[in-house]
Amino acid sequence: MKNQYQKQEHPEKSYYAATVNEVTDYPGLEGTVSVDICVVGAGFTGVATALTLAERGYSVALVEANRVGWGASGRNGGQLINGISGLHKVQKKHGEGVADMLWDLRWRGNDIVYERVAKYGIECDLKKGYVEVAVKQRQVRELEEYAAELKQHNHPHPFEVWDREKTRDMLGTKQFIGGLVSHYDGHLHPLNLCIGEARAAHGLGVKIFEQSPVTGIDHGPRPKVKTARGQVDAAAVVLAGNAYHHLEQKHLSNLTFPAGSYIIGTEPLSEETVAQINPMDLAVCEMNNILDYYRLSADKRMLYGGRCNYSGREPTSIKATMLPRMLDIYPQLKGVRIDYEWGGMIGIVLNRIPALGRINDNVYYCQGYSGHGVNATHIMGELVADAIGGTMEKFDLFADMKHFRLPGSQWIGNQIIALGMLYFRLKDKL
Ligand SMILES: Cc1cc2nc3c(=O)[nH]c(=O)nc-3n(C[C@H](O)[C@H](O)[C@H](O)COP(=O)(O)OP(=O)(O)OC[C@H]3O[C@@H](n4cnc5c(N)ncnc54)[C@H](O)[C@@H]3O)c2cc1C
Repeated sequence: MKNQYQKQEHPEKSYYAATVNEVTDYPGLEGTVSVDICVVGAGFTGVATALTLAERGYSVALVEANRVGWGASGRNGGQLINGISGLHKVQKKHGEGVADMLWDLRWRGNDIVYERVAKYGIECDLKKGYVEVAVKQRQVRELEEYAAELKQHNHPHPFEVWDREKTRDMLGTKQFIGGLVSHYDGHLHPLNLCIGEARAAHGLGVKIFEQSPVTGIDHGPRPKVKTARGQVDAAAVVLAGNAYHHLEQKHLSNLTFPAGSYIIGTEPLSEETVAQINPMDLAVCEMNNILDYYRLSADKRMLYGGRCNYSGREPTSIKATMLPRMLDIYPQLKGVRIDYEWGGMIGIVLNRIPALGRINDNVYYCQGYSGHGVNATHIMGELVADAIGGTMEKFDLFADMKHFRLPGSQWIGNQIIALGMLYFRLKDKL
């Protein structure tokens, strides 16, 4: 059992760690460093925030307990999907007046990723094309409603609705009965994106420290972010540790719950198989609450993932858990070799709205994307950077949302979340 301050490397059996462009080795934090802004945690939230701030001329320190992209950001399904979890509740609270702003915001993370990959020449196998698939009739109706919404907003990028036959022909499985293809969503190698963005931030002067777990913050007009061998003193601090951090418990305990999601990676598939199961090379995601998701890697492996547990404990065998799920969709993959298996922690928030806010005037936090974070982290990073610069409008749309913190220990919280998930699992079956 590892404690929260034990420094770790990327998971051994992760496809992403095995195919990373750059093995990062930023120094540990030693002594005192003085900057405008200190960001804690170098996943997408932390890196995107640091990069946005650096682009705007701030001096920034980015302090990571393990390695850049070590958490969910370097382990996820790599599906770049527009939207922010819980957005309809944000709109409900703030009214129709913000509807257009929120509609634009849901695409902002995609914009940022596409722009940065091009601007900084980040090699991360970025590919446009995503299909959300229905397994129930009511989900087909939801897809049709979504397509109508896209049309109504004059969505400038191509999209198409697939019926049962088209879905079966394009995805080589009878399990799905409809789909909506979006050509402005897509997929990528998340660890290479995260490391590439960190490299870009470093190029703009961001001081990056790895293997430097933050142990606490001394609050004050210039808060001090402490590690075992050093500290950063800054005008403002951003906490971006998501499901992995335990800082500021008084304010943040039991706000975000860790939920495990797991992925297996097959051997490279033959051209015939690829042509049969995913000729358009799309990211694929089910519409269920408890969902499975998959895509092909650049070297044509099936990366098949799903959300498995809410206990925070890794299954004894990820392969044994995930393989039957993959074979259920693709019996034709029976016998393929599984080369990789890994998992990571998603930060779940009870009301599903990202938890964005301030502990006091100069300590911000930004976490809890409920499994939908590649796009949302980039949006939230920009909103936090805006707030630091004094523009609160979009930040406050989220910061004003009420979040319920479960009383008691995190263990009790996780049991309640597990019960909630049982409810969603039953609902998925209806
Ligand atoms: C298996 C899996 C599949 C997923 N698939 C998708 C997908 O396909 N599409 C999608 O949109 N989303 C997906 N997600 C969700 C997405 O990955 C997350 O929402 C997103 O990466 C969160 O980014 P983050 O930077 O907030 O957190 P993380 O990436 O978890 O980063 C937090 C970082 O903070 C560091 N940290 C924690 N405590 C400290 C401390 N005390 N001091 C210093 N550093 C600290 C950690 O070491 C870690 O590196 C998936 C998640 C998982 C786990």
